[in-house]
Amino acid sequence: RAKGLFDQNKLYYNDRMFQELIKKKEIRELLKDALRNDGFKLVYQPQINLKSGKADTFEALLRLKDEDISPGEFISVAEESNLIIDIGRWVTEAAIIQLAEWQSKGLEPKPISINFSAKQLNDLSYVDFLNDKLKKHGVTADLLEIEITETVLLEKKDKSISFLNKLKKSGVKISLDDFGTGYSSLSYLTYIELDKIKFDRSLNHKFLQDNYTDTMAGLISLFHSMNLVVVAEGIEEKENFQKLSDRGCDYIQGYLFSRPVSPAAIEKIYDHNFI
Ligand code: C2E
Ligand code: MG
Ligand code: MG
Ligand code: MG
Repeated sequence: RAKGLFDQNKLYYNDRMFQELIKKKEIRELLKDALRNDGFKLVYQPQINLKSGKADTFEALLRLKDEDISPGEFISVAEESNLIIDIGRWVTEAAIIQLAEWQSKGLEPKPISINFSAKQLNDLSYVDFLNDKLKKHGVTADLLEIEITETVLLEKKDKSISFLNKLKKSGVKISLDDFGTGYSSLSYLTYIELDKIKFDRSLNHKFLQDNYTDTMAGLISLFHSMNLVVVAEGIEEKENFQKLSDRGCDYIQGYLFSRPVSPAAIEKIYDHNFI
């Protein structure tokens, strides 16, 4: 009987693995199709500067136009299949085109940040591609920010450091995304010259509880001493915004102020005072 049960579990397990594989293949096909047929779009979420009360950087987040599937599901598939290389290039140019469009509409220049996957370190001509596109669309490099995560700094350290230094030389800014979710070793903060650090939603949730607000203030001042701009992500409650503001945080990005929205919606809140 025990053996029968075991077999059943095994069957169920294999079946689940099979379903997973099918699902991944389907997602892979969706991504390939989107690359070929203009099926991607970017939505933007403002980072609110707590001094001015206004948005002053917009994070570009990738979406599939016609499919209800989140980046949490499709980015990992894109990474496993190397489609992230072409997708990463598409995101880069789309953000640059958006910057050029806002510029041509006479809006005050404000940076866009884009997410960069560790797998994109394999895209050896990425920096040349980026520089070409900036030139082509008449956008200066200081308007573009690249968000990397710890994994970018941890994997193949020497290779990634030289890649990122080359990127940095082109004039773009580099932020460290999702701080507090991984190893969060402080030494990688010295590998390259970072401009910004983004505290992950989960870290904020932990450190905004009453016993830890001093720790939060300490963390923020630690990063200020390293000349980093501090962004708190995933802020949904007014109370947490107030706590962060009181403790010297520079920017807040979260549903409290805005969800990620279309470029047209961003234009409506471009100069809005959120505080
Ligand atoms: P991320 O870069 O850390 O982006 C922030 C994520 O948190 C976004 O999810 C955003 O919608 C969500 N968020 C922002 N404020 C709040 C809030 O107040 N509450 C909650 N619950 N969530 C909030 P999204 O757009 O689903 O993206 C998820 C992740 O997928 C991103 O995390 C990023 O790692 C990845 N991703 C998205 N677009 C791209 C891309 O173009 N390239 C790469 N490589 N990765 C991307
Ligand atoms: Mg990000
Ligand atoms: Mg993040
Ligand atoms: Mg992330």
